[in-house]
Amino acid sequence: MRLHGTQLVNEQGHLEIGGCDTVELVQQFGTPLYIMDEAHIRDICRQYHSSFIEGLTNAEVIYASKAFSTLAMYRILDEEDLGIDIVSGGELYTALQANFPAARIYFHGNNKSREELSMAIKAGVGRIVVDNFYEMSMLNDLAQAMNQRVDVLLRVTPGIEAHTHEYIQTGQIDSKFGFTLTDGTADQAFDLALSFSHLVVKGIHAHIGSQIFELDSFRHEVQIMIDYMADIHERTGYLLHELNLGGGFGIYYASGDEPARISDYAKTVQDALEDACQNQKFPRPKIIIEPGRSIVGTAGTTLYTVGSIKEIPGVRKYVAVDGGMADNPRTALYQARYEALLANRAKEDAEEVVSITGKCCESGDMLIWDIDLPKVKSGDLLAVSCTGAYNYSMSSNYNRLTRPGVVLVEGGHADVIVKRETHADLLRNDILPARLKYLQMASR
Ligand code: PLP
Repeated sequence: MRLHGTQLVNEQGHLEIGGCDTVELVQQFGTPLYIMDEAHIRDICRQYHSSFIEGLTNAEVIYASKAFSTLAMYRILDEEDLGIDIVSGGELYTALQANFPAARIYFHGNNKSREELSMAIKAGVGRIVVDNFYEMSMLNDLAQAMNQRVDVLLRVTPGIEAHTHEYIQTGQIDSKFGFTLTDGTADQAFDLALSFSHLVVKGIHAHIGSQIFELDSFRHEVQIMIDYMADIHERTGYLLHELNLGGGFGIYYASGDEPARISDYAKTVQDALEDACQNQKFPRPKIIIEPGRSIVGTAGTTLYTVGSIKEIPGVRKYVAVDGGMADNPRTALYQARYEALLANRAKEDAEEVVSITGKCCESGDMLIWDIDLPKVKSGDLLAVSCTGAYNYSMSSNYNRLTRPGVVLVEGGHADVIVKRETHADLLRNDILPARLKYLQMASR
């Protein structure tokens, strides 16, 4: 397993993160357990800050909350002077409870409710990213009723779809998000938005995919978007000042993944912007980017305890851990790949190939297919790396498993930032109607 951030193997042969021995963390907090490496998160935030905000001068970096959203995370982001994007009333509520400045919040989503939009207007969020015609008129009506003018970006689908090493220029038209650029829908959307009295159209937004390694796809995105902004200017005389390029910058999960440096990503955007603006004689807009995975992904590690081991000779050896798709659905959903090591025997050499499965009642409940590990024993601790993004935030209570706690480690300190759920938490919202209580008693 490649080590990330402050991860190291200490003299006892244990994995250490943020100066904390993971074997001791397990004694204190149990498993499964999410560990977040605070220094690593801050380091990446600072790389984004220096490459984009200082490097591009007129730029903003907003963290995509969907990757990992908690009170503590929002405090770190505020201290690191980044903005955030949110896609629900729940994420907005969490950010506001963390005292995150509303002016640095962007509100996304393809089906925002009236309540969520009112909440956002009332809170004074910086930008609402309008996704469709239904939302646009509802937002204008709400803003009018609340006697406010709302700053908006319009989300478009630019016809590029990028994933890992490839991008498809004609992709993404078939998307539930945004106004299609290539069939005139985006033009209609801008015309309508500009006619609304309580919307102030500041700019445009696109998001072209996830886990992108190919920087050329961002260059292409900048070009298409600047061309379109120039087009709007020529057609309507209206100048858009803000260009939000979305998220999607790729990270290392497992061997073969080769992400570029954040500074190279910034340079690509910078160069593409200069070229495109010069070609179109268009004034350079403010650039906004929305990284999620690349800020928290490699900062997260999940610790599990190994339980049952099943060997099918000549076929496969299944090593089961005390979590699985309920705390990390990404392997089951996207065939995601992960690396792992035995946190209590991290110096030992690999001896066998095993597959790591979870404890859910589902054959697809796999965490890692075919990984080299030392001879694994029940009771060993397994650390899976790069689980900081889209793990806790996508976790569920499937099979009524309780969600693991989240511990933030830094300089030898470990703070619980999300408590481990208890069985009582599972019943928090269950209600037994009186008639069922009666039936329950009568049947005894
Ligand atoms: N912005 C938007 C609109 C998104 O849909 C996403 C992810 O799906 C992101 C930003 C964050 O992407 P990533 O975590 O890959 O950086």
